[in-house]
Amino acid sequence: MSPGWLLLIYCVVIVAASLFGGALPSLMRLTHRRMQVIISFVAGLMLGISLFHMLPHSEAQTGSLDRSIAWMVAGLLTMFFLIRAFQFHQHEPLEAGAQDHGHGHDAGHGTARPAQLGWVGIAIGMSLHTALDGVALAASVAAESHAEHSFPLLGFGTFLVVLLHKPLDALSITAVMTAERWSMRSRQLVNLGFATMVPVGAALFYLGWSGAGPGANEAFVGCALAFSAGAFLVIALSDLLPELQFHAHDRIRLSVALLLGVALAYSLGFLESEAVHGHP
Ligand SMILES: [Zn+2]
Ligand SMILES: [Zn+2]
Ligand SMILES: [Zn+2]
Repeated sequence: MSPGWLLLIYCVVIVAASLFGGALPSLMRLTHRRMQVIISFVAGLMLGISLFHMLPHSEAQTGSLDRSIAWMVAGLLTMFFLIRAFQFHQHEPLEAGAQDHGHGHDAGHGTARPAQLGWVGIAIGMSLHTALDGVALAASVAAESHAEHSFPLLGFGTFLVVLLHKPLDALSITAVMTAERWSMRSRQLVNLGFATMVPVGAALFYLGWSGAGPGANEAFVGCALAFSAGAFLVIALSDLLPELQFHAHDRIRLSVALLLGVALAYSLGFLESEAVHGHP
């Protein structure tokens, strides 16, 4: 299968997963504990994919660790300031009364609700975050498309992490909308709107890639990949660090979930061709 078709299929599956995520509360009871365990696992996976794969794959493309790290820091700071400006990335507790089992939330600190910052902020922040996921996905597929590969699913690690992360984003959007009494239909429409930013981001990457010209393509892929790795790192840590501060409950369970995510990211390396890590 050509990388372009593979990417298209990835995008369709991710959009479907986002819609599924938005509908989850009506399908199953998502307790606070379950949510935190899922968030820990997915954040661990994202952390691992960023550092075990995206960064080394980027270095194999740019040929320079310094250059890759510089782009990673650029992605990291961009996402950090994006979250600071728009505060769009909070997976709110879904259960009423979740605050009372070992939580250190105090009023006005750590519970800045997205609603008070307005829809424009959430829309801008979440759109950029989702478009960057599309860039990450396309860059990951592109970085592996040159190497001899026995495993046909190029960029599988990045695909998996975006696939599992998007339902969480969809949940936080629909949670805010439910609180504001939007209808199920409009919630799913808004969700669909955000989810389509994945193919938009992937398409933007392809435009830049084909425009980069011969010789510059590898560097373009490498820099985009490192930038995405930095963005993923901030997203993963922004999901993980509040746990230290605000969730004193289920510490063993949450730690195990985190470690399983990191271990899964590491073990995906066994499916890859050595060449994507720059040692053929
Ligand atoms: Zn790898
Ligand atoms: Zn997110
Ligand atoms: Zn908690």
